[in-house]
Amino acid sequence: MWTAECAGVAHCVGMTTRRAVLGGIVAAAGGLVTGAAAASAAAGAAGPAATGKAGAAKGKARNAGALTPPGRSDLTITARKRAEWGANEAVRVKPDGSEAWALRFSPVQGLVVHHSALPVEADRNATVRGIHELHAVRRQWADIGYHLVIDPEGVVYEGRYSGRDAVPIFDAHPVQGRKPLVVTGGHVSGHNMGNIGICLLGDMTAAQPGAGARSSLVRTLAGLSVLCGLDPAVDFEYVNPDNGARVTKPTISRHRDWVGTACPGEAFATQFDTVRAEVVRLVKGQRAR
Ligand SMILES: [Zn+2]
Repeated sequence: MWTAECAGVAHCVGMTTRRAVLGGIVAAAGGLVTGAAAASAAAGAAGPAATGKAGAAKGKARNAGALTPPGRSDLTITARKRAEWGANEAVRVKPDGSEAWALRFSPVQGLVVHHSALPVEADRNATVRGIHELHAVRRQWADIGYHLVIDPEGVVYEGRYSGRDAVPIFDAHPVQGRKPLVVTGGHVSGHNMGNIGICLLGDMTAAQPGAGARSSLVRTLAGLSVLCGLDPAVDFEYVNPDNGARVTKPTISRHRDWVGTACPGEAFATQFDTVRAEVVRLVKGQRAR
């Protein structure tokens, strides 16, 4: 079981204000990212077929890389693929071709929001690569801990690898009548299985997310709620599939709701109820977007 923390480890492990320093990991190259990239059919993943993949459903992805809740195309989540932001897949795969961390899938239980607590480079792809490098190489987790990352403009990035198909984070595109299975990430220590981690790039200790990021976060949380059959307005009883431990948390939670951390940043965390309320309204269809 991972004991993963988010990119801003100083914020997430303790209550210190010490800033995690990436050193030379984050590339400082410029080049602004424009808009959401067209989804690519090729994930560029060299790894073996994921354990537990539902092969028949793989070909049904509507748009490669897009997650579309049934009947709610307005809540479609289109993620920039790992190949598009330049994930270094070599660190995920051992020389014999097997996964350095075996992929595990479990039914979705909740959604957990983080901030990276790190500077955002002009090159957003490079910023995501920096977090990947921090998690996968420096912390030796073999991959990025988050399932999805959102940049200041609201572009969504595919995080944790979930298999060779184009569907991000799940074993296959969720369908009605079957509880979606999500790959186990590394973002909320001791409670990773079944919890989807979504990270906003930037430091929300003294600032709120920008309009683009916030709007994208609300839409993403609403889309995942519908897709996974979750009620964003209520608390749920999280059950750890490994040891059966139970704890009650909000369906849409903050990292700090689970462990001793400031994440997702004091300023944003104290306003988080408004995000949850917007998600609830959006899921109910009271606002298109
Ligand atoms: Zn966090």
